[in-house]
Amino acid sequence: MQFNKKLENIKTYEAGKPIELVVREFGIEPKDIVKLASNENPYGCSPKVQKAVTDIVSNMALYPDDSMVKLKSALQKRFDVEDKNLIIGSGSDQVIEFIMHAKASSGSKILINSVTFAMYEIYAKHVGAEVIRTASQEHNLEEFYELYKSEKPDVIFLCTPNNPTGDAIDATEMMAFLEKIDENTLVVVDGAYMEYAAFKDESKKVTPKELVEKFTNVIYLGTFSKAYGLGGMRTGYGISTAPIIEELYKLRPPFNITTLSLEAASVALEDERFVKNSIASCFSEMKRYEAFATKQKIDIIESYTNFVTLCLNENQNSTQLADALLRKGMIVRNLSGYGMNAIRVTVGTPEQNSRFFELTEQLL
Ligand SMILES: *Cc1c(COP(=O)(O)O)cnc(C)c1O
Repeated sequence: MQFNKKLENIKTYEAGKPIELVVREFGIEPKDIVKLASNENPYGCSPKVQKAVTDIVSNMALYPDDSMVKLKSALQKRFDVEDKNLIIGSGSDQVIEFIMHAKASSGSKILINSVTFAMYEIYAKHVGAEVIRTASQEHNLEEFYELYKSEKPDVIFLCTPNNPTGDAIDATEMMAFLEKIDENTLVVVDGAYMEYAAFKDESKKVTPKELVEKFTNVIYLGTFSKAYGLGGMRTGYGISTAPIIEELYKLRPPFNITTLSLEAASVALEDERFVKNSIASCFSEMKRYEAFATKQKIDIIESYTNFVTLCLNENQNSTQLADALLRKGMIVRNLSGYGMNAIRVTVGTPEQNSRFFELTEQLL
Protein backbone atom coordinates (compact mmCIF):
# COMPACT_ATOMS: atom_id res chain seq x y z
CA MET A 1 0.00 0.00 0.00
CA GLN A 2 1.23 3.51 -0.73
CA PHE A 3 1.23 6.07 2.04
CA ASN A 4 1.71 9.78 2.25
CA LYS A 5 5.20 10.44 0.88
CA LYS A 6 5.89 12.81 3.77
CA LEU A 7 6.05 9.83 6.10
CA GLU A 8 8.90 8.16 4.20
CA ASN A 9 11.82 9.70 6.05
CA ILE A 10 10.27 10.07 9.47
CA LYS A 11 11.82 8.04 12.26
CA THR A 12 9.22 7.03 14.83
CA TYR A 13 9.77 8.91 18.09
CA GLU A 14 11.51 6.68 20.57
CA ALA A 15 9.96 7.34 23.97
CA GLY A 16 11.73 6.37 27.18
CA LYS A 17 11.40 2.60 27.44
CA PRO A 18 8.25 1.78 29.43
CA ILE A 19 8.63 -0.24 32.63
CA GLU A 20 6.08 -2.72 31.25
CA LEU A 21 8.41 -3.65 28.37
CA VAL A 22 11.43 -4.17 30.63
CA VAL A 23 9.33 -6.51 32.75
CA ARG A 24 8.45 -8.56 29.69
CA GLU A 25 11.80 -8.50 27.91
CA PHE A 26 14.10 -9.14 30.83
CA GLY A 27 11.79 -10.79 33.33
CA ILE A 28 12.63 -8.22 35.99
CA GLU A 29 10.06 -7.52 38.72
CA PRO A 30 8.44 -4.07 38.37
CA LYS A 31 9.62 -3.18 41.89
CA ASP A 32 13.24 -3.71 40.79
CA ILE A 33 12.96 -1.38 37.83
CA VAL A 34 13.99 2.26 38.05
CA LYS A 35 12.94 4.54 35.21
CA LEU A 36 15.08 7.64 34.88
CA ALA A 37 14.43 8.12 31.19
CA SER A 38 11.59 10.57 30.59
CA ASN A 39 12.20 13.42 33.03
CA GLU A 40 9.13 12.73 35.12
CA ASN A 41 8.97 14.08 38.66
CA PRO A 42 10.08 11.14 40.89
CA TYR A 43 7.94 12.49 43.73
CA GLY A 44 4.83 12.37 41.56
CA CYS A 45 2.18 15.01 42.09
CA SER A 46 0.65 16.76 45.07
CA PRO A 47 -1.57 14.55 47.31
CA LYS A 48 -4.24 17.23 46.79
CA VAL A 49 -4.26 16.35 43.11
CA GLN A 50 -4.67 12.66 43.85
CA LYS A 51 -7.59 13.39 46.12
CA ALA A 52 -9.29 15.75 43.65
CA VAL A 53 -9.02 13.19 40.85
CA THR A 54 -10.38 10.42 43.08
CA ASP A 55 -13.31 12.63 44.02
CA ILE A 56 -14.45 13.06 40.42
CA VAL A 57 -13.64 9.59 39.15
CA SER A 58 -17.34 8.67 39.14
CA ASN A 59 -18.00 11.43 36.59
CA MET A 60 -16.71 9.87 33.45
CA ALA A 61 -19.84 9.46 31.35
CA LEU A 62 -20.06 13.04 30.19
CA TYR A 63 -17.63 14.65 27.78
CA PRO A 64 -15.17 17.00 29.47
CA ASP A 65 -15.82 20.73 29.86
CA ASP A 66 -14.57 21.88 26.48
CA SER A 67 -14.31 25.49 27.65
CA MET A 68 -11.78 24.21 30.21
CA VAL A 69 -12.84 27.03 32.46
CA LYS A 70 -11.30 25.71 35.66
CA LEU A 71 -7.86 25.02 34.21
CA LYS A 72 -7.82 28.16 32.12
CA SER A 73 -8.73 30.29 35.14
CA ALA A 74 -5.97 28.68 37.16
CA LEU A 75 -3.44 29.32 34.36
CA GLN A 76 -4.65 32.92 33.97
CA LYS A 77 -4.04 33.50 37.63
CA ARG A 78 -0.69 31.76 37.59
CA PHE A 79 0.66 33.67 34.59
CA ASP A 80 -1.37 36.89 34.79
CA VAL A 81 -2.69 36.53 31.24
CA GLU A 82 -6.20 36.41 29.79
CA ASP A 83 -8.36 33.54 28.59
CA LYS A 84 -7.80 34.59 24.97
CA ASN A 85 -4.04 34.10 25.42
CA LEU A 86 -4.34 30.40 26.28
CA ILE A 87 -4.68 27.09 24.52
CA ILE A 88 -4.53 23.70 26.22
CA GLY A 89 -3.09 20.67 24.49
CA SER A 90 -2.88 16.96 25.16
CA GLY A 91 0.66 17.57 26.31
CA SER A 92 2.46 20.62 24.96
CA ASP A 93 3.36 18.19 22.20
CA GLN A 94 -0.10 18.68 20.77
CA VAL A 95 0.35 22.44 20.82
CA ILE A 96 3.59 21.98 18.84
CA GLU A 97 1.58 19.98 16.32
CA PHE A 98 -1.05 22.76 16.05
CA ILE A 99 1.71 25.34 15.57
CA MET A 100 3.27 23.36 12.76
CA HIS A 101 -0.03 22.95 10.93
CA ALA A 102 -0.94 26.60 11.45
CA LYS A 103 2.33 28.00 10.18
CA ALA A 104 4.09 25.51 7.92
CA SER A 105 3.54 23.33 4.86
CA SER A 106 5.61 21.91 2.00
CA GLY A 107 8.41 24.33 1.24
CA SER A 108 8.37 25.96 4.69
CA LYS A 109 11.50 26.08 6.79
CA ILE A 110 11.80 25.38 10.50
CA LEU A 111 14.88 26.54 12.39
CA ILE A 112 15.92 24.53 15.45
CA ASN A 113 18.99 23.93 17.60
CA SER A 114 21.50 21.30 16.46
CA VAL A 115 20.59 19.03 19.38
CA THR A 116 17.08 19.50 20.69
CA PHE A 117 13.63 17.97 21.33
CA ALA A 118 13.01 15.38 18.62
CA MET A 119 9.33 16.19 18.13
CA TYR A 120 10.02 19.53 16.40
CA GLU A 121 11.53 17.68 13.47
CA ILE A 122 8.87 14.97 13.41
CA TYR A 123 5.98 17.47 13.32
CA ALA A 124 7.83 19.55 10.73
CA LYS A 125 8.09 16.51 8.49
CA HIS A 126 4.37 15.76 8.91
CA VAL A 127 3.65 18.93 6.98
CA GLY A 128 6.57 18.52 4.57
CA ALA A 129 8.60 21.39 6.01
CA GLU A 130 12.37 21.51 5.84
CA VAL A 131 14.34 21.47 9.08
CA ILE A 132 17.39 23.69 9.46
CA ARG A 133 19.72 23.24 12.41
CA THR A 134 22.35 25.42 13.98
CA ALA A 135 25.89 24.03 14.38
CA SER A 136 26.59 24.41 18.10
CA GLN A 137 25.34 21.99 20.69
CA GLU A 138 24.14 24.78 22.99
CA HIS A 139 21.71 27.44 21.75
CA ASN A 140 23.86 30.09 20.13
CA LEU A 141 21.59 33.02 19.30
CA GLU A 142 24.09 34.55 16.88
CA GLU A 143 23.98 31.37 14.82
CA PHE A 144 20.19 31.43 15.03
CA TYR A 145 20.18 35.02 13.78
CA GLU A 146 22.53 34.30 10.88
CA LEU A 147 20.38 31.36 9.76
CA TYR A 148 17.24 33.43 10.26
CA LYS A 149 18.62 36.03 7.84
CA SER A 150 19.89 33.58 5.24
CA GLU A 151 17.16 30.91 5.36
CA LYS A 152 14.07 32.98 6.27
CA PRO A 153 12.40 30.24 8.33
CA ASP A 154 8.67 30.30 9.05
CA VAL A 155 9.05 29.00 12.59
CA ILE A 156 11.98 29.16 15.03
CA PHE A 157 12.08 26.88 18.09
CA LEU A 158 14.01 27.95 21.18
CA CYS A 159 14.00 25.21 23.78
CA THR A 160 15.03 26.72 27.10
CA PRO A 161 16.15 24.89 29.09
CA ASN A 162 17.01 22.54 26.26
CA ASN A 163 16.18 18.84 26.13
CA PRO A 164 18.32 16.64 25.98
CA THR A 165 21.31 18.78 27.04
CA GLY A 166 19.90 20.73 30.01
CA ASP A 167 21.48 24.12 29.25
CA ALA A 168 19.36 27.28 29.23
CA ILE A 169 19.39 30.58 27.32
CA ASP A 170 20.01 33.84 29.18
CA ALA A 171 16.58 35.54 29.29
CA THR A 172 17.87 39.04 28.52
CA GLU A 173 19.78 37.77 25.50
CA MET A 174 16.70 35.95 24.31
CA MET A 175 14.55 39.08 24.56
CA ALA A 176 17.17 41.00 22.51
CA PHE A 177 17.11 38.23 19.91
CA LEU A 178 13.30 38.30 19.70
CA GLU A 179 13.40 42.08 19.04
CA LYS A 180 15.27 41.39 15.80
CA ILE A 181 12.82 38.84 14.37
CA ASP A 182 10.16 40.06 11.93
CA GLU A 183 6.48 39.80 12.74
CA ASN A 184 5.70 37.05 10.27
CA THR A 185 8.19 34.57 11.73
CA LEU A 186 6.71 32.64 14.62
CA VAL A 187 9.09 32.00 17.50
CA VAL A 188 8.23 29.16 19.86
CA VAL A 189 9.77 29.35 23.33
CA ASP A 190 9.46 25.85 24.75
CA GLY A 191 9.61 26.16 28.54
CA ALA A 192 8.91 22.51 29.42
CA TYR A 193 11.59 22.77 32.16
CA MET A 194 11.28 26.47 32.93
CA GLU A 195 10.17 25.84 36.53
CA TYR A 196 13.57 24.24 37.18
CA ALA A 197 15.60 26.96 35.44
CA ALA A 198 13.71 29.75 37.23
CA PHE A 199 14.38 28.09 40.56
CA LYS A 200 18.09 27.62 39.94
CA ASP A 201 18.95 30.89 38.23
CA GLU A 202 16.70 33.96 37.93
CA SER A 203 18.64 35.13 34.84
CA LYS A 204 17.25 32.17 32.85
CA LYS A 205 13.64 32.87 33.78
CA VAL A 206 11.34 33.72 30.89
CA THR A 207 7.90 35.10 31.76
CA PRO A 208 5.10 34.29 29.31
CA LYS A 209 3.26 37.54 30.15
CA GLU A 210 6.27 39.59 29.14
CA LEU A 211 6.52 37.71 25.84
CA VAL A 212 2.86 38.27 25.08
CA GLU A 213 3.04 41.98 25.93
CA LYS A 214 6.18 42.66 23.93
CA PHE A 215 5.81 40.48 20.85
CA THR A 216 3.05 39.62 18.40
CA ASN A 217 4.95 36.64 16.97
CA VAL A 218 6.00 34.57 20.00
CA ILE A 219 4.31 31.61 21.70
CA TYR A 220 5.39 30.16 25.04
CA LEU A 221 4.83 26.46 25.80
CA GLY A 222 4.52 24.86 29.21
CA THR A 223 3.61 21.40 30.45
CA PHE A 224 2.32 19.55 33.48
CA SER A 225 4.37 16.47 32.57
CA LYS A 226 7.64 17.46 34.23
CA ALA A 227 7.76 19.62 37.41
CA TYR A 228 4.06 19.10 38.13
CA GLY A 229 4.42 15.33 38.11
CA LEU A 230 1.51 14.67 35.74
CA GLY A 231 3.16 12.96 32.77
CA GLY A 232 0.39 10.38 32.77
CA MET A 233 -2.26 13.08 32.39
CA ARG A 234 -1.01 14.49 29.05
CA THR A 235 -1.66 18.17 29.64
CA GLY A 236 0.29 21.15 28.36
CA TYR A 237 -0.44 24.70 27.24
CA GLY A 238 0.50 27.50 24.90
CA ILE A 239 0.46 31.20 25.83
CA SER A 240 0.45 33.81 23.08
CA THR A 241 -1.35 36.77 21.59
CA ALA A 242 -5.06 36.36 20.81
CA PRO A 243 -4.68 36.22 16.99
CA ILE A 244 -2.19 33.33 17.20
CA ILE A 245 -4.29 31.44 19.74
CA GLU A 246 -7.37 31.89 17.50
CA GLU A 247 -5.58 30.22 14.60
CA LEU A 248 -4.39 27.33 16.74
CA TYR A 249 -7.92 26.81 18.01
CA LYS A 250 -9.02 26.00 14.45
CA LEU A 251 -6.80 22.92 14.60
CA ARG A 252 -7.82 21.69 18.04
CA PRO A 253 -10.01 18.58 18.13
CA PRO A 254 -12.97 18.95 20.50
CA PHE A 255 -12.57 17.51 23.99
CA ASN A 256 -8.81 17.10 23.58
CA ILE A 257 -8.27 17.09 27.35
CA THR A 258 -9.94 14.53 29.59
CA THR A 259 -12.03 15.42 32.63
CA LEU A 260 -9.46 13.85 34.95
CA SER A 261 -6.57 15.68 33.33
CA LEU A 262 -8.33 19.04 33.54
CA GLU A 263 -9.00 18.51 37.23
CA ALA A 264 -5.50 17.25 37.99
CA ALA A 265 -3.76 20.15 36.26
CA SER A 266 -6.01 22.79 37.87
CA VAL A 267 -5.40 21.46 41.36
CA ALA A 268 -1.68 20.99 40.72
CA LEU A 269 -1.38 24.73 40.13
CA GLU A 270 -2.85 25.39 43.57
CA ASP A 271 -0.13 23.46 45.37
CA GLU A 272 2.99 25.40 44.44
CA ARG A 273 4.73 24.29 47.61
CA PHE A 274 4.74 20.66 46.51
CA VAL A 275 6.32 21.60 43.20
CA LYS A 276 8.92 23.90 44.82
CA ASN A 277 9.92 21.16 47.26
CA SER A 278 10.41 18.58 44.57
CA ILE A 279 12.46 21.04 42.51
CA ALA A 280 14.64 21.79 45.55
CA SER A 281 15.21 18.06 46.10
CA CYS A 282 16.09 17.66 42.44
CA PHE A 283 18.88 20.22 42.62
CA SER A 284 20.26 18.94 45.88
CA GLU A 285 20.40 15.41 44.40
CA MET A 286 21.96 16.80 41.24
CA LYS A 287 25.07 17.67 43.26
CA ARG A 288 25.58 13.94 43.73
CA TYR A 289 25.56 13.46 39.94
CA GLU A 290 28.17 16.21 39.61
CA ALA A 291 30.34 14.52 42.22
CA PHE A 292 29.83 11.16 40.53
CA ALA A 293 30.90 12.56 37.15
CA THR A 294 34.03 14.12 38.67
CA LYS A 295 34.91 10.85 40.35
CA GLN A 296 34.37 8.84 37.13
CA LYS A 297 36.18 11.50 35.04
CA ILE A 298 33.25 11.99 32.70
CA ASP A 299 31.80 15.32 31.59
CA ILE A 300 28.46 16.53 32.83
CA ILE A 301 26.68 19.44 31.14
CA GLU A 302 25.52 22.04 33.67
CA SER A 303 21.80 21.45 33.90
CA TYR A 304 18.87 23.80 34.52
CA THR A 305 16.40 20.92 34.37
CA ASN A 306 15.51 17.74 36.24
CA PHE A 307 17.92 15.62 34.23
CA VAL A 308 21.66 15.44 33.66
CA THR A 309 23.54 14.65 30.48
CA LEU A 310 26.66 12.61 31.06
CA CYS A 311 29.11 12.76 28.15
CA LEU A 312 31.22 9.62 28.06
CA ASN A 313 34.90 9.26 27.15
CA GLU A 314 36.11 7.93 23.80
CA ASN A 315 36.71 4.48 25.24
CA GLN A 316 33.19 4.27 26.66
CA ASN A 317 30.06 3.70 24.60
CA SER A 318 26.67 5.18 25.52
CA THR A 319 24.70 2.47 23.69
CA GLN A 320 26.53 -0.30 25.52
CA LEU A 321 26.17 1.45 28.86
CA ALA A 322 22.44 2.14 28.39
CA ASP A 323 21.83 -1.48 27.31
CA ALA A 324 23.80 -2.91 30.21
CA LEU A 325 21.89 -0.69 32.65
CA LEU A 326 18.62 -1.79 31.11
CA ARG A 327 19.43 -5.43 31.74
CA LYS A 328 19.78 -4.51 35.38
CA GLY A 329 16.43 -2.74 35.40
CA MET A 330 17.78 0.81 35.18
CA ILE A 331 16.19 2.74 32.31
CA VAL A 332 18.11 5.82 31.10
CA ARG A 333 18.17 7.61 27.77
CA ASN A 334 20.92 6.84 25.29
CA LEU A 335 21.70 9.96 23.25
CA SER A 336 23.54 8.23 20.40
CA GLY A 337 20.54 8.99 18.17
CA TYR A 338 21.29 12.69 18.74
CA GLY A 339 24.86 12.19 17.60
CA MET A 340 26.20 12.25 21.15
CA ASN A 341 28.17 9.61 23.03
CA ALA A 342 26.17 10.46 26.12
CA ILE A 343 23.33 9.31 28.32
CA ARG A 344 20.58 11.46 29.77
CA VAL A 345 19.48 10.56 33.26
CA THR A 346 16.46 12.00 35.05
CA VAL A 347 17.35 13.00 38.61
CA GLY A 348 15.34 10.58 40.74
CA THR A 349 14.77 10.07 44.45
CA PRO A 350 17.90 9.63 46.63
CA GLU A 351 17.44 5.83 46.53
CA GLN A 352 16.99 5.72 42.76
CA ASN A 353 20.08 7.88 42.25
CA SER A 354 22.16 5.71 44.58
CA ARG A 355 21.14 2.69 42.55
CA PHE A 356 22.20 4.45 39.35
CA PHE A 357 25.63 5.33 40.80
CA GLU A 358 26.17 1.82 42.09
CA LEU A 359 25.28 0.11 38.78
CA THR A 360 27.05 2.60 36.57
CA GLU A 361 30.24 2.47 38.62
CA GLN A 362 30.31 -1.31 38.13
CA LEU A 363 29.76 -0.98 34.38
CA LEU A 364 32.11 1.86 33.45
C1 LIG B 1 8.56 16.79 27.78
C2 LIG B 1 8.73 17.89 26.78
C3 LIG B 1 7.65 18.49 26.12
C4 LIG B 1 6.23 18.12 26.17
O1 LIG B 1 5.78 17.20 26.94
P1 LIG B 1 4.22 16.86 27.00
O2 LIG B 1 4.22 15.70 27.89
O3 LIG B 1 3.76 16.59 25.62
O4 LIG B 1 3.58 18.08 27.58
C5 LIG B 1 7.89 19.54 25.26
N1 LIG B 1 9.11 19.99 25.06
C6 LIG B 1 10.17 19.45 25.66
C7 LIG B 1 11.49 20.01 25.40
C8 LIG B 1 10.02 18.37 26.55
O5 LIG B 1 11.09 17.83 27.11
